Parts: sequence; C-alpha cells; structure tokens
Amino acid sequence: MNTLLWLRTDLRMHDNPALAAARENGTVTALFLAAPDQWRQHGDAPAKVDFWLRNLHELSRDLGERGIPLKLLTVADWSKAPEAIAAFCQAHAITQVHANTEWAINERRRDAAVAGALDAIGVDWTLHHGASLLRPGTVTTGKGDCYRVYTPYARTCRDRLRTAPVVAVPPPRPQTPPDWSADPLPDTFDGFARPSEAIRALWPAGEAAAGDRLEAFTDGVIDAYKDERDFPSMPGTSCLSPYLAAGVLSPGQALRAALSANHGELDSGKAGAATWINELLWREFYQHLLAAYPSLSMHQPMKPETAAVPWRDAPDDLRAWQQGQTGIPIVDAAMRQLLALGWMHNRLRMVTAMFLSKNLLIDWRLGEAWFMAHLVDGDLAANNGGWQWSASTGADAVPYFRVFNPLSQSRRFDPRGVFLREWLPELADLDDKAIHDPSPMERAAAGYPMPIVDLAQSRLRALEAFGNLPAVG
Ligand SMILES: Cc1cc2nc3c(=O)[nH]c(=O)nc-3n(C[C@H](O)[C@H](O)[C@H](O)COP(=O)(O)OP(=O)(O)OC[C@H]3O[C@@H](n4cnc5c(N)ncnc54)[C@H](O)[C@@H]3O)c2cc1C
Repeated sequence: MNTLLWLRTDLRMHDNPALAAARENGTVTALFLAAPDQWRQHGDAPAKVDFWLRNLHELSRDLGERGIPLKLLTVADWSKAPEAIAAFCQAHAITQVHANTEWAINERRRDAAVAGALDAIGVDWTLHHGASLLRPGTVTTGKGDCYRVYTPYARTCRDRLRTAPVVAVPPPRPQTPPDWSADPLPDTFDGFARPSEAIRALWPAGEAAAGDRLEAFTDGVIDAYKDERDFPSMPGTSCLSPYLAAGVLSPGQALRAALSANHGELDSGKAGAATWINELLWREFYQHLLAAYPSLSMHQPMKPETAAVPWRDAPDDLRAWQQGQTGIPIVDAAMRQLLALGWMHNRLRMVTAMFLSKNLLIDWRLGEAWFMAHLVDGDLAANNGGWQWSASTGADAVPYFRVFNPLSQSRRFDPRGVFLREWLPELADLDDKAIHDPSPMERAAAGYPMPIVDLAQSRLRALEAFGNLPAVG
C-alpha cells in the first residue's frame, strides 16, 4: 500500500508521529506543499522560508537514505491544496495520507477541505499530534475550559507529564523505494529573497545541526539558564526557536534532553533546567490558546475591551522603531539585531514590544507583523502570545500599568553596555553609564538621534489610554 506523509512545520525524520504512522502502514512518499502566495499573506519572513527550504534539502537526503522520496508541489495558496493533494494521491496510487496537525485557523480550514477532497476519492486522511508535548484541547480546567492563566496551566501540564511521560516515536524503517524518485528542490521560492550569508550561517539546517545545538545547550549552558537568560550579551539561551518552530526539533526531544540533564525532574532539581522547561511550557500555552481561540489567528485581542485602545497612527514613529532609530539605545540595538540575525533575544522582544505598544501607543498588530516579516523563528502562536502579553491585550498578559522603562531594563540587563556596543557602533566609545542614555551633545557627536518620545509622558499617556476603556460584555 502507498501512503503519503504531508510535511508541514514538522521537518524532521525523528520523533515524527505522522511519518511513523505512514511508514507503519505501507510504502511512504513524503510531500511538501509550497504555497508562496499564502506565505506572503501570512507575512512570513524570507529568512524563515529559506530556513524551511534548507531543511527540506537536508530532510530529502535523510529520507532518501531510507528509500523515502520527498516530492515538492507548488500551489498559490491553501485554497488550491485539496485539488493538488487529491490529484497527487490519484497519480501515485496513494491510499492514506498522514500529517501532523497545525492549529492556526487557515491551516485548519485547509485541512478540513483536504479531508473532504480525499474522502470523495476514497483516500484515508489521518491527523497526528506532533507540534506540542500535550495535545491542545486536552489540558483543561476543572470546568473543561482551556486555561487562560499560565501558572495553573503549567501545573496541570507537569502533572500530566509526570504520570504520562512523552515518549519518542522511532524513525521510519528503511523501505524499498516506490516507483518514483525525489524531486529536485529549488534554492529559493518565488518572491522570497535569499537572506544574508550571516543569517544562513547562524541557523544551519538539518536535524543533526539541531541535535548538536540541543546537546551543547543541555550539556552545560542550561545550568546557568536561570541566571543568564535575561542578559542579551550572554550566550545564555538555547537559540533553538527556529528549529522548534519549523519542527526540525520536536518539543519532546527538547523536553527529554532537559529532563536527562536534570535527573528526570520537571520542576525541582537544577534551577536552570527547571526554568528552561517552564519556557517550553509557555510555548505550549500559546499553542493551546491558539487552538482554543480561533480569533487569535484573526488579529483579535484576547481581552475584547482592548479593541478600543485609541492606537496612534504614527507612521514616522513606527518606521523609526522598525529601523532601530528611536533614540532609545536598547530598543534600537534590539531592532537592529532582529534585522541582522532574523532573531531577537527574548528580554528584548518584551522591551521593544512594550515600547511600541505603550510608549509609542502604536497598535501591537503592526509590531507583530514586523516581527513575523523578519523572524527566522516566526511562529503565529508564540509571536501573537508574546505581543499580546506585552501589549496587555492577552490572556495572562502583563498588567497595563506595569510599563517597562527601557532605560532601566538596559541598565539592569546590559550593565556594561556590551550588547549596546555590538549593535550601535556609533555609541561604542561612550562609557558604561552614558551609553544607555547619551546626552544631546554625545548624540550629536555620534550622529545618533534624540529620543522620539518622552518616556515618562508617554507612559502616562498609555496608562490613560488603557485605564479608560469601556467594559465589554
Ligand atoms: C513579542 C514577542 C514575540 C515573540 N515571537 C516569537 C516567535 O515568533 N517565535 C518563537 O518561537 N518565539 C517567540 N517569542 C518567544 C521567545 O522570545 C523566543 O522563543 C525566544 O527568544 C527564542 O530564543 P531561544 O530559542 O534561545 O529560547 P530559550 O530561552 O532557549 O527557550 C527555549 C524554547 O522555549 C520556547 N520559548 C521560550 N520562551 C518563550 C515564550 N515567551 N513564549 C513562547 N515560547 C517560548 C521557544 O521555542 C524557545 O526556543 C516571542 C516573545 C515575545 C515577547
């Protein structure tokens, strides 16, 4: 029997439930459906699309060594997926299609339409669970609802993970290849420019690269994670987010590596490992919310009353933020890091997101879209969750009156200005104190802009905007 594995954001051979099931049931062919127009509608970053493609090259080789050909189909957008998948199945005498669930609304609608098209031609369609540790919809409050608060959610997750550990799915057994061979893969997809070599070098593709990074992190760095993860000049975090977002690494693989570095303890034992596991659970939390609340995929705030925030229409301020020219050094350094690396440190994602949504009072959705357009790890659930957290519009968000002061954050988390000097070379000669907030003379000499906003006044403006919202419902 010929079966099909439809690859999406699960670009791996190991620990891939859909692949394992497809192989168990027959001779498997793998398929990737490229949808450049759809990706453009989603505002996906060229660096991310390039990362997918580079991983597909690696995966095609790995699968090929086991006799599994990787085919590539290109459609404009998901509306063309049912016809394309059904035609592929008919042309290759495929009787079963297996895929891992994606939870964003367009992908769920796509899958429902594909299921219908396959049913009409008598092909079985099975969705598996491979993107999170626990299946969305199964971690619920006593009343059966999706948790909206992280702490009790994480407690329930840990209880579940303690009693039913997440076990690895074996990679597929080698097979005699079907009658068709793998497709040659392109070097770029239409309309998605190749990113800089610096970005490509920073994010090497393939499961082996992801595994090496995971091992290097859990073998040592993880021990200091709790103390160092907030300091952007330190290599204190795993930098695994692109691999988790593209599914090159599974959350189970990440969890098991952390557990083995911590004698199997989830929330006790070493503080570094326990804190890192906590972050994996934040990732889960946002995925579970995205699955439970389709409105999150449709640009809606989780707190309905915040739809009435009087966001400013300030294109010049937005552009200054995007380009790292706000005159607030920590914000500018972070935004330049994003443009150069396709990645930004978590602490700075919070600082820059809060600066945009509170100090500039610019709609968080514009920031969310800018991040998505540049992040190699761009992931709807985590990005939306992080933005709604920072903008105080989200489920378990920071209270609106707790506005980070970017200068205090800068002094606290980059006390010697190491990160600032790396990304703002024009300020590199300033001393450790001045670099966080240079004087007008120092700015003029360095060709660095004056702040585009007064931090104290803009904070009060945000408090007023959020404090006076009409109640909803
Ligand atoms: C405004 C904003 C936008 C964000 N956008 C994204 C995004 O598009 N994609 C993305 O993967 N993460 C996003 N994050 C979460 C977080 O910043 C990144 O996951 C993290 O910086 C990645 O670096 P790392 O792999 O070294 O993380 P580590 O600190 O090593 O954490 C390990 C893994 O846990 C997950 N994780 C860690 N923190 C979070 C978090 N707060 N929320 C969800 N998952 C988390 C990631 O998969 C990460 O790789 C965003 C956060 C904010 C505040």
